[in-house]
Amino acid sequence: MAAAQNGGRIKVSFIEPKSEISRAVHQAFVSDKSNGIQALMDVISQSFKLPRNMDVVFAETGKVNAWYDPEHHAVIMAYDFVEFMIKDAVANKGNEKEAIEYATGAILFTLMHEMGHALIGEMDVPVVGREEDAADEFATMILLDCGPQGHQILGSAADWFYAMGRNQKELAFWDEHSLDQQRLYNILLLMYGHSPNTYGSIVSTIVPKNRMAKALYEYKIKEHRWDKLLTPYVRGGH
Ligand SMILES: [Zn+2]
Repeated sequence: MAAAQNGGRIKVSFIEPKSEISRAVHQAFVSDKSNGIQALMDVISQSFKLPRNMDVVFAETGKVNAWYDPEHHAVIMAYDFVEFMIKDAVANKGNEKEAIEYATGAILFTLMHEMGHALIGEMDVPVVGREEDAADEFATMILLDCGPQGHQILGSAADWFYAMGRNQKELAFWDEHSLDQQRLYNILLLMYGHSPNTYGSIVSTIVPKNRMAKALYEYKIKEHRWDKLLTPYVRGGH
């Protein structure tokens, strides 16, 4: 793929699936006239100086997963994963509206997390520490600035990590990701740090007071450090 002249764009596409079961999921996305996923990706490509065009490809892959493919400069979102999330939501939520909101939020958070890996890879951002945590933090910091829709996605993601953590039989300390419950609290505390008045009462029911006080301070430092780290890659930055 040729290097983009004025910074790359991110193109979202939906590959026609072969199996019956994926077809309904594919149709649901293709018929989404609001084109919300492309709009979210436009926010990213308008914010950062991407060195080349990138793709987000929804496709049938046989894997219940989503990943960044550095060779093809693409994020792959498997219909199999999308289907899994929808079935999980329908099985666990009280009504269809809640199920759709939860599944959509978890899927979009996953996309933003993979976009975090993709931007770190494509722009060669010198992230130290655990990249999985950085990708979660990147997704969370961007979504916090995306208004109520972004906050709703984060709420669903927190809900999802809570459910996964509760069902986890064995704690995978060796995994490259933090534990699901830690990912949940990391997101919640960033949400609290960003909007203490909105999230204070809910967070105070599950997080000790002294941790909440630290989270406020931490959020300011993280915001400053992410800004500093990403300034060279921001459009209009140096
Ligand atoms: Zn990851």
